Amino acid sequence: MYWDRKDECISRDELGELQLKRLKKTLQRAAASPFYRDRGIKDIQISGLSDIRKLPFTTKDDLRDAYPYGMVSCPLDKVVRLHSSSGTTGTPTVVYHSIKDIDKWTELVARCLYMIGMRESDVFQNMIGYGLFTGGLGLHYGAERLGCLTIPTGPGNTKRQLKFMKDFATSAIHVIPSYALHLADEVESLGIDPRNEFPRLKYALLGAEPHTEETRRKVEDFFGIAAFNSYGLSEMNGPGVAFECPARDGMHIWEDAFLVEIIDPETHQHVAPGEKGELVLTTLQREAMPILRYRTKDLTSLVSGPCSCGRTHHRITRITGRSDDMLILKGVNIFPMQIEAVLIGIPGVGRNYQITLESKGHNDHMIVKVEIDSSLSINDYKSLDTLRKRIGRELRDEILITPDVVLCEPGGIPVAQGKAVRVVDNRTL
Ligand code: AMP
Ligand code: ZN
Repeated sequence: MYWDRKDECISRDELGELQLKRLKKTLQRAAASPFYRDRGIKDIQISGLSDIRKLPFTTKDDLRDAYPYGMVSCPLDKVVRLHSSSGTTGTPTVVYHSIKDIDKWTELVARCLYMIGMRESDVFQNMIGYGLFTGGLGLHYGAERLGCLTIPTGPGNTKRQLKFMKDFATSAIHVIPSYALHLADEVESLGIDPRNEFPRLKYALLGAEPHTEETRRKVEDFFGIAAFNSYGLSEMNGPGVAFECPARDGMHIWEDAFLVEIIDPETHQHVAPGEKGELVLTTLQREAMPILRYRTKDLTSLVSGPCSCGRTHHRITRITGRSDDMLILKGVNIFPMQIEAVLIGIPGVGRNYQITLESKGHNDHMIVKVEIDSSLSINDYKSLDTLRKRIGRELRDEILITPDVVLCEPGGIPVAQGKAVRVVDNRTL
């Protein structure tokens, strides 16, 4: 039942001791990095876990400011891999791993897969992006550690995905939720009965972006399988941070590897157990780049009671949103400011713009409505077409997603009374 019973079912007291020991070690390591050395980590005394409050928070901006090596706390020769957050925001946030870090990460992912019932006889088709993004390689290594036949298809090319699923009798797929629904649409439009076509398919691992219970149910009902929520972020490795067990009542967050806090994003105080707040995580095992009190900006709450599966690690509820304005579209992180920065640099673009997110079938889609300036006429179709194409191209280069660009006259977008409403999210997922 357990990949590692000792660690997964550890008593809460023992877990606390282990966390304290690992936290102290983490602080020692972190103090060797220029970033944390400058923050005086060396002089902070920790005698119990509640002393975590004495440590400073770390943010995404800190990671950018420390680019490229400011947070590395071991000799660079020991670093074997770097990953980066999905999306592009000028200076990337880069996380480094030693060989031990990769090994520990792999173990955590294998633990998650074993937990949901996967074994070495499973055929695992990994439909998530490989490369700098952590989703592909993270799950890939974990599934191989388990002994599964692991097929690194990556995302897209739906027809080939379906062929592989059939020909290799795939039993588990890893997929972003919106793509899972798209896959279902494609199967339906081909007139295929998924239960006949993929009789061994049993599990879907849904991760990388927020989704609802309804989306999970749609995927499950359509394919006749069980779908599991998988949460992670590149700063804390990637996938393998928190994962649903068969009880599917919250995601177990692996507290032997991450120290968990939930804070009020405004006051920065811990919220009461069970209350919603922002998840803050500290790495407890990372060697190459420890991160202290990382403000994930993800909103969730802690489920601290025992779980029917017997694991003692607390659970977090489904992520319901973010405390900043980051959007996630097709698994890619996007900040509205990136769009603004592109638009400002293009001649002919006016003062106001608005981003709308829609569900097109089961695909998420972005529409960027942009006012033109007075140098252009709304009837000059040729110039407008050139401008529209240029905006589309430059946005795609910046955010990796091709939006629909709609141009309108100056003043065509209503000006908000208070803060500008830059993003309208009409997605149904
Ligand atoms: P990245 O650093 O590119 O891996 O992006 C990590 C972010 O993706 C997280 O901070 C979350 O906002 C989001 N994310 C990842 N997995 C999930 C999930 N299962 N549910 C909701 N959001 C998720
Ligand atoms: Zn459980």
